[in-house]
Amino acid sequence: MEIFHRHSMSFERLKVPLPGMELGHINVYVFRCSDGYVLIDAGLATYDAALALIRGLKSLGVKLSEISKVFITHLHADHITLVQFLSEVASPDFYIGKEELRDTITSFDEFINKYIDEYKRHGVPADILEAFLKLHPMSRFRKAYEDIWKLNWKGVGDGEKVGCGLEAVWTPGHTPGHTVYVTKFGIFTGDHVLPKITPNISWYPRPGFNPLKEYLSSLKKVDLKTRGFPAHGDEIPNLSARVSELLKHHERRLNEILKVLQEPLTTYQVAKRISWDAGAFDQFNAYNKIFAIGEALSHLIYLEEAGVIRRVEKEVVYWVRL
Ligand SMILES: [Zn+2]
Repeated sequence: MEIFHRHSMSFERLKVPLPGMELGHINVYVFRCSDGYVLIDAGLATYDAALALIRGLKSLGVKLSEISKVFITHLHADHITLVQFLSEVASPDFYIGKEELRDTITSFDEFINKYIDEYKRHGVPADILEAFLKLHPMSRFRKAYEDIWKLNWKGVGDGEKVGCGLEAVWTPGHTPGHTVYVTKFGIFTGDHVLPKITPNISWYPRPGFNPLKEYLSSLKKVDLKTRGFPAHGDEIPNLSARVSELLKHHERRLNEILKVLQEPLTTYQVAKRISWDAGAFDQFNAYNKIFAIGEALSHLIYLEEAGVIRRVEKEVVYWVRL
């Protein structure tokens, strides 16, 4: 565990395990505010994570009942699903970006089926779709989601001062309502900017949402020479430098996709043909294939809106260069 002392404010980082996820851990940041303790993100609803969080807080001398505010960066399972547990042992206020709350009204079947239908339309084979239904965190943590949707969430606005020296800044892309929390000494970046890996920018079941376009403009919102405190991995000493690497990464991928589109291809075929930092697509497990397909699709939607490619709807969607 690391202890930070910066300016007048100090906060600490608990590395809470993510059992069954390659990311390994999530950082839960903890600091003292006037009426209690604040957490940034919560963790995954598993026994190991709950135990690690309790032990971590205990080692900092924080009583669970003293947790007064929990700020969640986005609705992914590894960040949010442990909040139900916190609501049982304390009575904190729960905050999340307003846009993130728009999907909490739909049923899970409906939400997951939107993915399955869309991926099918993009040429994804049945075995991968089946794995999606089994492995996707939205399915695996369905029970936890059903509980936490019922909590009394406070939706935060873009630029809203949310107390404890934090300003919420919307950074859509990784999810439509992803929110970072800005302080005088740096930014709690959630999954918007990560130090080692490029955050997954995937298709999202929301009409008109162009995830990559949103993401690239959100990156510019945090293109600052300040520190980043990410949800996974170590502190980012210079956010600006990391942002320019991420911008270059997506530019390279867009160019590569244009290069492979010498003939009409489905999104699935594009995902198979482009290069991935993690290795060859065919060697990926089903879980990573799903993320790679979503990533390819977000880039294709970006190129479509930019007017460089168009879709041809047959029994599945083919992409054609203009
Ligand atoms: Zn995430």
